[in-house]
Amino acid sequence: MTLFDSPAFEGHEGVHSFFDEKTGLKTIIAVHSTARGPAAGGCRMWPYASADAALEDALRLSRAMSYKNAMADLEHGGGKAVIIGDSRTMKTPALFEAFGRAVDTLGGSYWTAEDVGVSPADLTFARKQTRFVAGLEGHAAASGDPSPVTAEGVFRGVRLAVRRALKRDLDGVTVAIQGVGHVGAYLAEKLHAAGAKLIITDVNETALTEIAARTGAQIVAPGAIFDVEADVFAPCAMGGAINATTLPRLKAKVIAGGANNQLADPEIGRQVFERGVLYAPDYVINGGGIINVAGEIRALEQGAAFDPAWVAAKLDRLTLTLEEVLDRAVTEARPTHEVANEMAKARIDQAVAQRLAA
Ligand code: NAD
Repeated sequence: MTLFDSPAFEGHEGVHSFFDEKTGLKTIIAVHSTARGPAAGGCRMWPYASADAALEDALRLSRAMSYKNAMADLEHGGGKAVIIGDSRTMKTPALFEAFGRAVDTLGGSYWTAEDVGVSPADLTFARKQTRFVAGLEGHAAASGDPSPVTAEGVFRGVRLAVRRALKRDLDGVTVAIQGVGHVGAYLAEKLHAAGAKLIITDVNETALTEIAARTGAQIVAPGAIFDVEADVFAPCAMGGAINATTLPRLKAKVIAGGANNQLADPEIGRQVFERGVLYAPDYVINGGGIINVAGEIRALEQGAAFDPAWVAAKLDRLTLTLEEVLDRAVTEARPTHEVANEMAKARIDQAVAQRLAA
């Protein structure tokens, strides 16, 4: 595959690769769009099997960030960085300083933050070389862990989707949660408080036992979560949970969870729709985390303290946007992910048009 053959390349403003001989840093920073403002998206460190695989991931993730930021009504475009390497063995302060220099060459068109394999501690080293870093700790603008905000948005999304699809409230509804890590654990507690019955799975036994003790959830093996009798399936682990193998096994009438890239491909989204299952598009329902990060960028740019009220207002608005997606999907008898993609693209196109007219 060459860069221009990738379907995910479509629309990218820039794709930047950096190699630092001294530290061994190999990073790709993909900037999909800056039409709505500087691109914002985390940095992922992963032992990709090849540079092509890393490129494909960076492109896919940065485009998704454009859509997510547009639907969250943020003045940010989408971008994402990937570092090729094993985060358990290859992290050094110098490597993250080199990464910071790479980010800085983009002159603020891309703001980085944490993602899989990258922690706030790692980013403190990047910050020595560039100011375009969010997700740091210990300063007035710091936004802290985004997971509770993500989980609150997901909780509201589950409640809304249940009201629409099942015509009832969460009390007594059974929700199957795949993955009780940061987002899944907060979500489980909120659903439990709202009276939902929980079935949970994870590959981490300790997390499972803790959440079950707090919420009375039933525990099942990771492979069994697709077969349980549940009203809602909430993917909160890795991407691709909804695929040709798992979809026919699901009994839930609602799919709504925090994971990114839940649909293995767009075609499976159409099959979800044809089976009469209501899917809350992942990048709409899980936008709370990036709203929190955007709150930090805003505070840094203004030299002000982090403002939770600004974040809360954006989250309220995101809930209304999800409602709009679900409404349009019903009116137009179309899959929700197609409606969401169309709305996100229209918001980005509108920003491009405004820039050209200015
Ligand atoms: P996390 O790593 O804290 O939690 C993920 C959990 O899934 C872990 O407990 C892990 O053991 C479990 N898991 C992994 N593979 C599994 C499998 N096959 N079966 C069952 N469980 C499995 O991550 P997180 O921050 O909670 O994020 C969860 C998902 O939500 C990810 O897809 C992430 O990209 C997405 N997301 C997170 C945020 C956020 O604010 N943290 C924001 C937006 C999207």
